[in-house]
Amino acid sequence: MLSVKELTRRFGGFTAVNALSFELEKGEILGLIGPNGSGKSTTFNVIAGLYAPSAGSVQLDGREIGGLPPYRICQLGLARTFQIPRPFRKLTILENTVLAAHYGAGGQIGRAEAERRAHDALELIGLPRDPGASVEGLGAAGLKKLEMARALATQPKLLLADESLGGLDEAEMNQAAEMLERIRNERGISIIWVEHIMGVLMKVIDRCIVLDHGELIAEGAPAEVTRDPRVIEVYLGSDAEAVHRQLDRQQSAAEAG
Ligand code: ADP
Ligand code: MG
Repeated sequence: MLSVKELTRRFGGFTAVNALSFELEKGEILGLIGPNGSGKSTTFNVIAGLYAPSAGSVQLDGREIGGLPPYRICQLGLARTFQIPRPFRKLTILENTVLAAHYGAGGQIGRAEAERRAHDALELIGLPRDPGASVEGLGAAGLKKLEMARALATQPKLLLADESLGGLDEAEMNQAAEMLERIRNERGISIIWVEHIMGVLMKVIDRCIVLDHGELIAEGAPAEVTRDPRVIEVYLGSDAEAVHRQLDRQQSAAEAG
């Protein structure tokens, strides 16, 4: 579904993403991890069209999207959430989501269809659909949900989710992870998820890739990647044991059915 080849993005003399190549299958949830500043958000920004690639290619369903503007890429079926939600504060929850539906459709749908798509997204995410519900009442978890609802209202086939758990408590984090799984299972939407909270990430991803200094240093199943000495050295550090224990527990639970 997504094929990234030798993707490079420079800022002046600094290389934020360096010859990155990876593939994503349809229906997959791929984790993208790595230390702060390793190029995760820049990778998302290039794939979603905020920045043009300095070199390399990005293909969505066989079609080159590298260098296209964000609205075109969104219309082709790729949505993203931002680390810091910035809804239109003077619009209601429903209006914010309707607007996203229009954006995703490139203005090609009418009001009724945009509302249908918005209602559908809000229902899946679990946000109020009544026309009076304001953005002001939403806390951190609510704002993250709205970010997700707006992305879904564009009807993506691929969703890029950037660090969606920051500022949430344990229960809210688990709910957010379950929500991503539901989005994939019920809608067949493929997901790339950047997230620092490994315990939650590992519960839902099928596979992960690891960046360091803009380069891919490991790729594979969570159980393999988290045991890679280089990944432990540059990223997991003392968290490695806890992550391994959790993965072992998950595997035993899966084997027990
Ligand atoms: P991550 O999301 O993995 O924490 P980023 O992709 O945000 O990392 O950043 C990777 C590196 O690229 C950092 O050193 C960051 O300062 C730099 N960078 C990101 N965006 C820009 C930009 N627009 N201009 C200059 N440098 C940038
Ligand atoms: Mg980031």
